[in-house]
Amino acid sequence: CGIVGFTGTREASPVLLEGLRRLEYRGYDSAGLVTGTGADFHLRKKAGRLAELAREVIARPAPGCYGISHTRWATHGGATDRNAHPHLSTDHDIAVVHNGVIENYAALKQQLVADGVAFRSDTDTEVLAHLIARCYDGDLLQAVLQATAMVKGTYGLAVMSRAEPGVIVGARLGSPLVVGIGADGHYLASDASALAGFAEKVVHLGDRQVVQLDETGYVVRTRDFDAVDMP
Ligand code: GLU
Repeated sequence: CGIVGFTGTREASPVLLEGLRRLEYRGYDSAGLVTGTGADFHLRKKAGRLAELAREVIARPAPGCYGISHTRWATHGGATDRNAHPHLSTDHDIAVVHNGVIENYAALKQQLVADGVAFRSDTDTEVLAHLIARCYDGDLLQAVLQATAMVKGTYGLAVMSRAEPGVIVGARLGSPLVVGIGADGHYLASDASALAGFAEKVVHLGDRQVVQLDETGYVVRTRDFDAVDMP
């Protein structure tokens, strides 16, 4: 339902929690975030109010200057801690938050399970974490382009890879996403209202556009191929 990401020169978790708080009015049933210190991810997620997540982050801090976060409005799978986003790939190398619905998730999941992938949630979203991990070959933006080409449905996405510390990739189709440029880094959000006071400038992404952000800049790419089948 709500997405906030940040990569820059200050601690990410306070920015993420404040951004999510500003999107609370849209409604949600769970919330979560993942931050990174170098190649280590710090995942915190809770069903219920954002206050539950904030309490969890006080009890078990999520350090690091880059991270992605989400408020979930469940469409596939109940409102539980494990169904809350972010979702991770098997080896915890890829983290994903997602707004929208992956319509062909059942077929993709069946194929992934047949290939030996163990799922940890009942969400449609988790297929994306596994697909991106499977497509990953040293370039997160390319992996997101390839994986999203296999899905049918709608998405606003924010993705991180442990192999690319400080990098966040965003993608959208039928679900809004904006990039924010601030003095202390770059932001990603499902709505510009999350970034008021943080970002000095906001750029709206178009459908089928993919963006890569890090502390120093951002680059937007437009998908130049149509949907493909999973190899
Ligand atoms: N379909 C996803 C889920 O149920 C995302 C829902 C949302 O947009 O918050 O987990």
